[in-house]
Amino acid sequence: MERMFVLNDDQRAILETVGRFAREEVAPRAAKLDANQDPLDCYSFEIVEKAHELGIRTMTLDEEWGGLGMDSLTTAMVVEELAKADMGVSVVMAQTFKIAQIMQRALNAEQKARVLPGFAKDPRGVLAIGMSEPGNGSDKHLSIPVPFATHATRAEGGWVVNGMKHFISNGNRASHYLLMVQTDRTKTMEDGATCFLVERGRPGFTIGRVHDKMGERLANNAELVFQDCFIPDANIVGEVGKSGAVFADFSPQSNAYAGATVLGVAVALYEKAVAWAKTRVQGGKTLVGHDGIRAQLGEMRMLIDASRAYIHRAAWLADHRDQGWDATLGILPKAMASQSAWKIATWTLEIHGGHGYMKELGVEKLVRDAAAFLHSDGVNRTLFLKAAKRLFR
Ligand SMILES: Cc1cc2nc3c(=O)[nH]c(=O)nc-3n(C[C@H](O)[C@H](O)[C@H](O)COP(=O)(O)OP(=O)(O)OC[C@H]3O[C@@H](n4cnc5c(N)ncnc54)[C@H](O)[C@@H]3O)c2cc1C
Repeated sequence: MERMFVLNDDQRAILETVGRFAREEVAPRAAKLDANQDPLDCYSFEIVEKAHELGIRTMTLDEEWGGLGMDSLTTAMVVEELAKADMGVSVVMAQTFKIAQIMQRALNAEQKARVLPGFAKDPRGVLAIGMSEPGNGSDKHLSIPVPFATHATRAEGGWVVNGMKHFISNGNRASHYLLMVQTDRTKTMEDGATCFLVERGRPGFTIGRVHDKMGERLANNAELVFQDCFIPDANIVGEVGKSGAVFADFSPQSNAYAGATVLGVAVALYEKAVAWAKTRVQGGKTLVGHDGIRAQLGEMRMLIDASRAYIHRAAWLADHRDQGWDATLGILPKAMASQSAWKIATWTLEIHGGHGYMKELGVEKLVRDAAAFLHSDGVNRTLFLKAAKRLFR
């Protein structure tokens, strides 16, 4: 059984492979890809293909589907390792890891046999979840009693979908999607929406705008547009009207992976702050010799270690829910890690003085990246409200 605070041999071996991939394949390309104007040019198929060759892309698939059957704790460690090299690449993979886990648990036998072998073989295969809409952002996290605008009407043998999702990570790159659609417009998202499996290229489904983002640029986010798109009953995931259950039951580790992503950026920032503080001389000594700077570095270290412990606990308990899982572990670790990362980002900028503001040191990219998860996977404020709802019903 995997342990929480001491790496076992398998974890050590996997992290070594992923660390080498991150250092050799991701880090050297990241700054150049990030600097491209067009978000489409920021994405690298080469990186995804290399991750495929090394077995990283499919590592959460069970062995019967060609993967490594990776547990959630080890996956969270891998996500952090990737994010140390680049947050966007970490997001591309973390979404794919997470959705592959959901698919294995939530798809029926026929759906798995239809989808998973092809996904396992496709060197560019990545996955996406379509929930957010222009009019429905935080409402879905807070169970506000309103319907999704993207809706489906009954047709012979299936459903006809119309509407649009936006901000979707891997939206324009994925081979398969899990899509939340309102199938009963008299009800709310909670009790009237259904999860559908959607394949890329289905008639009536097109990609809209690819969003131009401030950071996390090596991942693409896009609009998904549905115009009279027929989806057969065979593509319903779980039960009609129960889309929420698919995620609540099958993806408790999602928040920990989001936390691990932004934690990797915090670690990269901290390492830059330490390196700079050890070499930059002002006031007759290196910055690390000044008490104010030393205290700030100590606090950064505390925030990183505390965030990691929280994420690891949540990820481990997501796989062992009978050992003390509680719902707040699926809501709060990302908020803790992203708040910590944001503090560490501003302090790292401060420690670098004017040098941090100049692009050549790479601090500014990390600051832009660190901002991504203040909102992604749920705005922190709404996550606190969501947790409070679980605690004080
Ligand atoms: C980088 C990135 C990647 C993403 N990837 C995906 C994805 O793959 N799939 C997907 O479905 N979505 C994705 N999203 C969307 C994300 O889940 C939403 O951005 C998030 O849920 C917030 O919604 P919103 O942006 O519409 O903000 P809003 O809901 O408009 O919130 C704006 C502000 O109002 C506050 N607020 C809102 N409602 C309340 C309330 N009731 N009480 C108090 N305060 C409130 C919020 O806290 C926030 O500060 C992504 C977003 C980003 C930024």
